[in-house]
Amino acid sequence: MSAAGKRNLVVALCGGIGGAKLALGLSRVVPGDDLVLVGNTGDDFEHLGLMISPDLDTIMYTLAGLNDPQRGWGRRNETWTFMDALAALGGETWFALGDGDLATHVERTRRRAAGEALSAITADFCRRLGVAARLVPMTDDKVRTRLRTEEGWLDFQDYFVRRRCAPPIQEIAYDGAASARAHPDLLAALRDPRLRTVVICPSNPFLSIGPILAVAGLREAIAHAAAPVVAVSPIIGGRAVKGPTAKMMSELGLEVSAVAVARRYQDLLDGYVLDRVDASEAEKLGIPVTPAHTLMTTLADRETLARRVLASADALAKVSA
Ligand code: GDP
Repeated sequence: MSAAGKRNLVVALCGGIGGAKLALGLSRVVPGDDLVLVGNTGDDFEHLGLMISPDLDTIMYTLAGLNDPQRGWGRRNETWTFMDALAALGGETWFALGDGDLATHVERTRRRAAGEALSAITADFCRRLGVAARLVPMTDDKVRTRLRTEEGWLDFQDYFVRRRCAPPIQEIAYDGAASARAHPDLLAALRDPRLRTVVICPSNPFLSIGPILAVAGLREAIAHAAAPVVAVSPIIGGRAVKGPTAKMMSELGLEVSAVAVARRYQDLLDGYVLDRVDASEAEKLGIPVTPAHTLMTTLADRETLARRVLASADALAKVSA
């Protein structure tokens, strides 16, 4: 077997929507549990007495083929009887929970209350839903993303869902991250001699990748991994495909560009995949850059981009070998 043939393990850091798209592409080219997906739990929160993990669920539903492709979150063919009934009782309806989705949160909450770790529950849900990749929360400890705005500090879901990201942000905090323990399976995967590459998916750098990299020791473990680290830009032609990434970058005084996202990961990156429309910016970075078609509209787009990312990592590994 060739050296590259033995290095099959791929670790990918991902948030919800953009992250899950590339994760799905990767799952089609990296077999079974050779794909380790590091899920962001900074968005997790308790609501109506339930423990909700939005990014883990988006990735799980996407890989299980159960996701709603229009909304980008939740399950397809969802019904809303619970929400309608809750509204009729004057309950809190700002965070939408579909009937099928509700089962995930109720069962997770029951098992957490019985003492099971989030990672064990996530692994079991994935197995039952036929997801072969390993989806691992960045930590089993509590990390909460919060944002300082003109209105003071807001919890993540208050900012993101209730206020629809309207208040300009001034600062971001990842409460609990500095003392959180990275999940041991992730540290083991990053040290595994079979590691082929670490992929930073095209996710929001502040809300999805930021919390993962803030978990104590995880950024260092990625930096010390013996395989190439490659990120994919979530910014195409100065715009985010979806969500508040571009708005947040400008509020924080950053240039809204693929290059500015790469700079946030500069200490980690061996290579960067950006869109062809941004190819002229590439030389500013001083690391090998692969221009690609990065807008993932179809399933074929997701798979093709995944192949490009892996090929760029393999080329980097060859250069450094
Ligand atoms: P969230 O947790 O639901 O916010 O999801 P992510 O952080 O994973 O995804 C949001 C980011 O994905 C945004 O910055 C988008 O620009 C990016 N994104 C969404 N779809 C695509 C796509 O098809 N291609 C690329 N390159 N980025 C995308």
